[in-house]
Amino acid sequence: MTVSDASRDRPPYTGKEPCHTTLPIVLPMSTSIAEETDWYQLGVDDTADRLESTTQGLTTEKAEKRLDVVGLNELEDRGGRSKWEIFRSQFRDLLTLILLIAAGISAFLGDWVEMVAILIIVVLNALMGYFQESRAEEALTALKQMAVPEVTVVRSGQPTLAPATTVVPGDVLLIETGNVVPADGRLLESVNLEIDEAALTGESAPVTKDASLVYAEPRTLGDRYNVAYMGTTVTKGRGTLIVTTTGMATQLGRIADLIQGIEEERTPLQQRLDQLAKVLAAAALVIVAVVFAIGMWRGEELDVMLLTSVSLAVAAIPEAMPAVVTIALSLGAQRMLERQALIRTLPAVETLGSVQVIASDKTGTLTENKMTVTVLDVANHRLELTGATHGPFEIDDASREAIRPSLQASLVAGALANDAALTMTDGEVTALGDPTETALVVAAAELGLKKPELERALPRIDEVPFDSTRKRMTTVHRIEEIPESLSALAAVGDGEIGYATFTKGAVEEVLERSSEVMVEGRIEPMTEEWEARILQAAEDLAATGTRVLATAGRGSTDQPPHDATEQDLVFTGLFGLMDPPRREVAEAVATAKSAGIRTVMITGDHPLTARHIAQQVGISDDDSFIIGSEIDAMSDEELRDAAHSNSVFARVSPEHKLRLIAAYRADGAPTAMTGDGVNDAPALKQADIGVAMGITGTDVAKQASDMVLLDDNFATIVAAVAEGRVIYDNIRKFIKYLLTCNASELAVMIIGPFLGLPLPLLPLQILWMNLVTDGLPALALGVEPPEDDVMDRPPRDAEETVFGGGVVPYIAWFGSLMAVLSLSVGVWAWNQDDPAWQTMLFTTLIFAQLALALEVRAEKRSLFSVGLLSNKPMLGAVLFGIVAHLALVYVPFFQTIFKTVPLGPRDLAIAIAAALGIIVVAEAWKWWRRRSDAP
Ligand code: ADP
Ligand code: MG
Repeated sequence: MTVSDASRDRPPYTGKEPCHTTLPIVLPMSTSIAEETDWYQLGVDDTADRLESTTQGLTTEKAEKRLDVVGLNELEDRGGRSKWEIFRSQFRDLLTLILLIAAGISAFLGDWVEMVAILIIVVLNALMGYFQESRAEEALTALKQMAVPEVTVVRSGQPTLAPATTVVPGDVLLIETGNVVPADGRLLESVNLEIDEAALTGESAPVTKDASLVYAEPRTLGDRYNVAYMGTTVTKGRGTLIVTTTGMATQLGRIADLIQGIEEERTPLQQRLDQLAKVLAAAALVIVAVVFAIGMWRGEELDVMLLTSVSLAVAAIPEAMPAVVTIALSLGAQRMLERQALIRTLPAVETLGSVQVIASDKTGTLTENKMTVTVLDVANHRLELTGATHGPFEIDDASREAIRPSLQASLVAGALANDAALTMTDGEVTALGDPTETALVVAAAELGLKKPELERALPRIDEVPFDSTRKRMTTVHRIEEIPESLSALAAVGDGEIGYATFTKGAVEEVLERSSEVMVEGRIEPMTEEWEARILQAAEDLAATGTRVLATAGRGSTDQPPHDATEQDLVFTGLFGLMDPPRREVAEAVATAKSAGIRTVMITGDHPLTARHIAQQVGISDDDSFIIGSEIDAMSDEELRDAAHSNSVFARVSPEHKLRLIAAYRADGAPTAMTGDGVNDAPALKQADIGVAMGITGTDVAKQASDMVLLDDNFATIVAAVAEGRVIYDNIRKFIKYLLTCNASELAVMIIGPFLGLPLPLLPLQILWMNLVTDGLPALALGVEPPEDDVMDRPPRDAEETVFGGGVVPYIAWFGSLMAVLSLSVGVWAWNQDDPAWQTMLFTTLIFAQLALALEVRAEKRSLFSVGLLSNKPMLGAVLFGIVAHLALVYVPFFQTIFKTVPLGPRDLAIAIAAALGIIVVAEAWKWWRRRSDAP
């Protein structure tokens, strides 16, 4: 299901225009009938006719034309806000309202200049808020759009991949296990097809579908077994579907209103900040009230004090904080996308930074997933295929004859119990499909057994698909003819056989179902010696990091019943497949380690294969591993211990992943876990960060995930974690900065009068300061580049708030320092009867805040080694702040508005020198921190 914000560029659906319905295509019929077409009551051909399509699908041109008429296949997202709504909401803010009232008061008192200035500041404030929030909203929409899944659609007779949003009525789609059905449709074909319709009917058990059914009587939604609905998921088998309805006209679209409007998920950080903002607002209001009381007590004018209080409240309350945090998070999500990590939920950005355990798949994530068959082991003989895989195999004639039958049977089983397709272009043999399977198809082809020919001789009539719990796959074939080259196949069964069954899968699984073994063309009982020999051969192969797959087969006169296909098999041989680790993985594992993050491998593969690869990439440096059946025997307590001391978990099924996550999380360690299959969805949901594979992952896994790895690469997870840490750091810096500035302003206003000053700052000056120092520098902190040690320090404590790590003392200390510096300058000038005293105080405080913006960028590193140029937006923000302030002081027009006085060179120098005190103290503070870090 695709949800995107269509409401923005389309007028609302009034029910009159043919928005997303099948109407334009079924024009010959009356509208009412078309609307009520019950596709499940139609046969396959009628359905296609009525959709003016064929069971072979539409042509590309026709599909494109239709798309223009019916519109995109998507659900309208009513959750997003329009630009206009965002803009308006800026003025609904309580503080803005107070400011507007203040402007009214000014006008009432006849102070027109002040009124206009306040209004301008209100608009500037609103524009900034608008800019910030719409930026955040855009980023979120962009993320949603990235997540549109691709579907296989038959256009002009060719299966092609297309975005699910471009599907139109009449299109023919191929669906298979793990897909989310992208539109409503009538099934044309179904093979063991089961669909989970819980999204629509609430029924959690999957429904078995059958394309051949046609119903005469009306049936309820949950009982229509010949149709499939948008948003439901294929849990088993495969099928073809002719699309009848798309977009909001689908069954899901009809209830979309119900499921939408679900509130955007706030991240834990955002929730905490929302609360914090409230507390701070309350505190600020109390302080403002105190300032007001002091002013009145000192005999200031009521209207001046009113305005001062309001301005101070506006400046001190960190109302922009939540929006800026959202921006930082969504900008972070965009940066992660550049590194091939697609973030699906905003909280994930934040959680990523706290990850302590990464539990990763092996195949494809840690390894290349480019497999080649390197070894073929048939009873008593081993064939190394490395290097010379082309052409007929080179072994001496005697052995060749001896092993030919087992070899052929293994290759045929490997190629036929297999969903990969062989394609031959210009003599180049390539195969399409799962890498394990393509490797087998290619190996068979290279040894003279081409899959298309095999399939012609032995068409598939039944199958039990692979899944990672069963770890095997079986197909049943009708024998049309046995080609000359396959004469050895006859040995699979005796005499007149009409059917052949082939199985491939994990060695233990296949062995368990084999009662006999093929030895040099003869079939012998599976003795304990044979079993031991096969297991030993498999272990030898696995110990070198090769993936091992076993094959078996059986002939029969009758077609075996569907649930008895995997019995009494004849074991034929072993394949060794090489799948080298990805180059960048070892480094990523090392990076994770130095960042205090544990990497563990969780795989369905053989433990020795797993261990070898784990050792190669640095996940494990000992020989220990745990296998799935051992996990079954453990209590939760024991598993927690095992999870601590082991990094390799092999032969696990998706159910084990759930327990493993629970084990890591029980220790309070935020855990990222990868997955690709339908069965992995629960574990992905359970993990703090569920990571789905972008290339090999199913739609179901992607939808259950928080993050999708577009390149399936483990290194991408580590890169995303690093990015998550940077973002968290930056958010914390920005909060530190904002609150320190606010604290300094409040302190100046409270303490000033006790030092004998009249109002230290005027309302407009406060508002201006708020705009210049809070707005741009705060945003610039969001793009601060990573600190050197982001991946050299332990993960932050999952319980730690943004106020951990010395933030509160920092705010108190630097807030007071800025107040002291600017008040000293002000009081000194006041005592000299310098009329510029207020401008000097104002200038010192603004410059001090800008200096702090530069210093807050790095926790420990000196500003002089970080450099001004490493964050150009910040440099720009600070320069802008300086120039704008100088304009305020020296341009006569602004002088009248802001009541500033031009500063002489000496006064300006004093203000600047005082502000630079921030740099001196901050550098000393950092130096001290660096020193106490050093051993
Ligand atoms: P991984 O965790 O490495 O991705 P899988 O769960 O994909 O491992 O596979 C687990 C085991 O299942 C493999 O070691 C192999 O024995 C078997 N297997 C994998 N793919 C297939 C397949 N397409 N057909 C049959 N068996 C398979
Ligand atoms: Mg896998």
